[in-house]
Parts: sequence; C-alpha cells; structure tokens
Amino acid sequence: MRFDIITIFPEIFRSVFSGGVVKKALEKGILEVHVHDLREFSGDKHKQVDDRPFGGGQGMVLKPEPIFAAVEEIRQGVDTPVYLLSPQGKRLDFRYAEELAQHTRIILICGRYEGVDERVTRHLITGEISIGDYILTGGEPAAFVVVDAVSRFVPKVVGKEDSVKNDTFFTGLLEFPQYTRPRDFKGMKVPEILLSGDHSSIESWRRRKSLEKTWLLRPDLLEGRALSQEEKKILNDIKTEKKGKRDEPN
Ligand code: SAM
Repeated sequence: MRFDIITIFPEIFRSVFSGGVVKKALEKGILEVHVHDLREFSGDKHKQVDDRPFGGGQGMVLKPEPIFAAVEEIRQGVDTPVYLLSPQGKRLDFRYAEELAQHTRIILICGRYEGVDERVTRHLITGEISIGDYILTGGEPAAFVVVDAVSRFVPKVVGKEDSVKNDTFFTGLLEFPQYTRPRDFKGMKVPEILLSGDHSSIESWRRRKSLEKTWLLRPDLLEGRALSQEEKKILNDIKTEKKGKRDEPN
C-alpha cells in the first residue's frame, strides 16, 4: 500500500517512520510513504500556501490552488482516493482503518492553522478523517496515526498474522491480559494457568478475561455485538461472580 502525505512540515515525518513495524514494512517494500511539501506547489516565489479568511476572523487558511496542484501532480491521472485530516471528519476506528486498507493507495492532506479552504473539502477530496474529538494544531500527527493503524491491515506488515487477530477490537472485544518474564516480579505473580502448558485451558482463560475486561472497561462494545451461547454463559458467570459490580479487572 502506498500513502502520499501532503504537508507544510515534511520534516516532521522523518522520525516517525524511522522505527518499528512501519519502518520494517517500508524497507521490505510492503508499504510506501511519500511525503510532499505543499510549499513546492505554491506556484509563487515566496512559497505562500495560506492567506487570511474572507469575512474576517482570526488565523490563516490553507489556499486551494497549491492543494489541488499537489493532488493533481501526485495522482498523475490515476484515480486515487484523497482524504483530508480534519476534526470534522469520520472518526477513525478499527473498522474504518480496515476499510481504508482496502485501497492500494491513498493521499492524505494535513491541514494547519484555521484549516483548509472549503473548496478542497467540497470538490477535491473523497472524505475527511478525524482521529478524535479534540483539536490538533495540524494534521501531521493524525496522518501518522492513520498510516500506522491502516498499515496493520496490510498483509505481511505485522509479522505474525495472529498478533493482529488477537488485537483489541478485532473480535469486537478488548484483548486478554498479556504477561512476560519474570514469573514473579516483586511478589506480583503471573497467573498459574499461563504457565501450565495446557493450551485449551489457556484459550478458555483468555476468552473469559477478554469478555471480563470488555464488560468492565468498554461495556459499549458488548451492546453492538452478537454473543455466542458460550460467551453469554461466561458473561453471566462473570456478572454473578462480581455481583454485577464493575470494578477493576483482576
Ligand atoms: N478550525 C478548525 C476547526 O475548528 O475545525 C481546526 C483547525 S486545526 C487547528 C488545524 C488542522 O489540524 C486541521 O485542518 C486538521 O488537518 C488537523 N486536525 C486537528 N484536529 C484534528 C483531528 N481531531 N483529527 C484529524 N485532524 C485534525
């Protein structure tokens, strides 16, 4: 999958893709990230890409011409979906990230200042992506989040397929608790079952913990999810055991 990012701060991206899973996928050619400096498309010697808002008001707005020019140049005549990072967009979640990963290529536009000229939103882009109900100073951190979250759905980006399948949200539930060495850290012990080598019991324990954590921490996820008979029974057992009270998972 290829991501083209349009930004006025290309240098921000130098470090964010220089480590971890995304870096490895870039090195293997499974992912491509191309960062484009919007100022290169300004068409003026001062490289101006913003201007004051019509009608008055605070701050500056990113002009439409450089953004349209950048998208046209990057697309090279090939129809490519274009997304604007925006707090007004569709909220990024697990499913939306998976949907975006179905594209072989997407262009991401990072806004700044007061945002971008509305003609970009109305006449150029495929959609707007928000990473949450808060205001960032620019779209760059959001673009990084989108690339990272979407990449996990691109085949072979995450080494062992299983680690994605167990991820929180993949099954509509939070992931079970994970432990590593040491077995005993200052008296805080790893649950015995995980050391038993009994894979079927470990599997049941994890299913139960996953349901328990979801019920305790994100009950909203259970509301939209059809539970199997077995899951319903486990959940009823958990509620009885906890006397219906939601407190910290143990
Ligand atoms: N004045 C705009 C508004 O109220 O909708 C906010 C502009 S914000 C300061 C500057 C840029 O940061 C936006 O154009 C957008 O690209 C990015 N941005 C801010 N919050 C975001 C969010 N929650 N998700 C995605 N992008 C965001």
